[in-house]
Amino acid sequence: MILDGKQTSAKILDMVKDRVSALDKKPHLVVILVGDNPASKIYVRNKQKAALQVGIQSTIIELPKETTEAELLDKIEELNNNSDVTGMLVQLPLPEHINKNKVVTAISPKKDVDGFNPENVGRLAIGLEPYFYPATPQGIIMLLDEYNIPIKGADAVVIGRSNIVGKPMAQMLLKRNATVTICHSFTQNIEDKIKTADIVISAVGKKIVRCKMVKKNSVIVDVGIFKNENGQLTGDVDFDVVSPSAGFISPVPGGVGPMTIASLMLNASKVYQ
Ligand code: NAP
Repeated sequence: MILDGKQTSAKILDMVKDRVSALDKKPHLVVILVGDNPASKIYVRNKQKAALQVGIQSTIIELPKETTEAELLDKIEELNNNSDVTGMLVQLPLPEHINKNKVVTAISPKKDVDGFNPENVGRLAIGLEPYFYPATPQGIIMLLDEYNIPIKGADAVVIGRSNIVGKPMAQMLLKRNATVTICHSFTQNIEDKIKTADIVISAVGKKIVRCKMVKKNSVIVDVGIFKNENGQLTGDVDFDVVSPSAGFISPVPGGVGPMTIASLMLNASKVYQ
């Protein structure tokens, strides 16, 4: 069965739209884009489109690639202090001369719609409710819930340990009482771990899940999105090889991607001041 991120995200966006229309204080999302990375420009535009669709005011601040770290931190401080702005994010990647950890630390945890600020990360880690969960893992949990996939007690394998997907994904699965194995580029025998897992979530950016026989009724979630040698967008999972033995599988495109946007809009609809 296909985990349909397009359909599920449309339902979530409708729910967010209703929620926003009932709010007294309207959310205002500011997205900061530094430099002219073409992929980032597309991502930022898609976020703005989704925000408009659900009635969230959105502003894009474009800064030149020469912007200094200090200038960016000043801009973030200004937005932290602006009560009209309820959420903000800085589109990654940043130019090399800017330290991304300093940037995410500077964003007020109550406006940190990406959930990357250390306070939100730490809250998740110690079992406190963060102000915001990172969009991609939160979107994946919503997708699993939409299909009533049991997480409690499941053996989950997360491939990838980035701060934006792998690590928070593992934390969120743990919070829901899964038994979690995290794999990375030094992990031995990944295929054996994939084959015995109830839930596999792959966030690598390479064709890494290719085994013919996965566990019966297992759930395969493909976060990866990259261009193959023919220039086509593809994911980490070899869909044709893996899907016949899996119980549920998410496609690329149309799986995790739209869920990430819907999940971000859910975050952007939260107003904390
Ligand atoms: P990232 O920061 O590059 O992290 C990739 C992770 O994969 C690292 O932890 C790395 O391990 C691990 N890895 C690399 N080669 C491996 C191998 N051969 N075996 C096992 N693990 C390996 O990437 P990311 O930002 O998490 O993104 C991952 C993928 O998801 C990308 O394709 C990205 O475009 C996609 N993505 C999609 C969405 C969406 O909404 N659909 C959102 C975010 C990301 P080490 O830590 O040991 O280096």
